[in-house]
Amino acid sequence: MNIHALTERFPLVQQLIKLEPITWFNPNVTSLSDALPYVGLSQADVADASARLTRFAPYLAKAFPETLDAGGIIESPITSIPQMQAALAERFGQPIAGQLLLKLDSHLPISGSIKARGGIYEVLTHADALALDAGLITEQDDYANLLSDECRAFFAGKRIAVGSTGNLGLSIGIISARLGFDVTVHMSADAREWKKAKLRQHGVTVVEYEQDYGVAVEQGRQAAEADPDCFFIDDENSRTLFLGYAVAGERVKAQFARMGVVVDAEHPLFVYLPCGVGGGPGGVAFGLKLAFGDHVHILFAEPTHSPCMVLGVHTGLHEGIAVQDLGIDNLTAADGLAVGRPSGFVGRAMERLIDGYLTLDDQQMYDLLGLLNHAEGIQLEPSALAGMPGPVRVCADTAYLERMALPPEKMANATHLVWATGGGMVPAQEMAKYLAQAKA
Ligand SMILES: *Cc1c(COP(=O)(O)O)cnc(C)c1O
Repeated sequence: MNIHALTERFPLVQQLIKLEPITWFNPNVTSLSDALPYVGLSQADVADASARLTRFAPYLAKAFPETLDAGGIIESPITSIPQMQAALAERFGQPIAGQLLLKLDSHLPISGSIKARGGIYEVLTHADALALDAGLITEQDDYANLLSDECRAFFAGKRIAVGSTGNLGLSIGIISARLGFDVTVHMSADAREWKKAKLRQHGVTVVEYEQDYGVAVEQGRQAAEADPDCFFIDDENSRTLFLGYAVAGERVKAQFARMGVVVDAEHPLFVYLPCGVGGGPGGVAFGLKLAFGDHVHILFAEPTHSPCMVLGVHTGLHEGIAVQDLGIDNLTAADGLAVGRPSGFVGRAMERLIDGYLTLDDQQMYDLLGLLNHAEGIQLEPSALAGMPGPVRVCADTAYLERMALPPEKMANATHLVWATGGGMVPAQEMAKYLAQAKA
């Protein structure tokens, strides 16, 4: 990799190396119908994932009583944050046209982050296949039967492994252990102590590494390869995880219908998704595109120290380049976003469907965390604030808005949905430390 040639050809890469916060609107974004063939997955695949989650709902309602009220469906509320909208406009000196909403995946049951979508779905899919194959259940049965001693004993003979910076491990560890699996989570150096402790409480084996996420994943993969009865969950390449996230699209559509939020040609929707390796935001974005078509505009948000997806998509090198290749250290306080090399699967599948990418530094995440707490009394982990500058960046970029045929009349009807991806399970002491990092 010749860095000089790369920065000559892509001046944006020079800004990434300098750790400058950037906003890049992709000129190659296209319509859903033109982009769909590149995704390689369809509405039918998402419908299948949705149906599987419905089959498992009676199981989840019993296994995790906190999901009982929602009938065993793992979903989060959407809330309006008008005080935050005003506070952002004041802080950045940029009015935000339309309304600002927050999607509280931070408060998803079971594991308190967006990983409760894809991670749990992938384990359920694996358990489903094993149990059906062994004749323990049929698709017509009540899946609550999976709580039986017989089923748990069956799963206890099977192993699951995953590499994680924390949140994926939490979600996969908790659901796997509950089903009865023998589960190992390979944790990178940046993983929080409380997340490891929580997993161990659930009976999960935690293996710790002194290196970053890429190394933890590789070690996990190797350990699993040596063991034919071990299922390795591959965050970087899994279509199953991606589909678990994608179910969010139809759920948001139903929530908006109940809330009276209109999305159409005159009422654009903007969604801001924090991005690590890409599976979570990529899958959610795919589901949203299927639900709202070309009326939804999506931006991915990354830390200045881990801008792997924008680097991969902008240069077209995808998983062929890591931020470390440019001397960027991949050190950030944003759990889940400290990823140096993007998923090539997600980058290639979604690059025509994502309007833009932004980066922000850790201090800004802390400041926004403090601002949201002050304005709305909502507490999130730093990564969950990554999308929060999105509405400001969009509204400030008249060239982008003109190119997308989004004049002020339409923007006045816009809905901005910031996806809050984690923080619901952060212990009070840890949250106090986060809040102390925010500048008043
Ligand atoms: C994992 C995670 C993300 C990003 O998901 P990827 O699939 O890694 O891109 C965003 N926010 C939080 C809190 C996460 O845990």
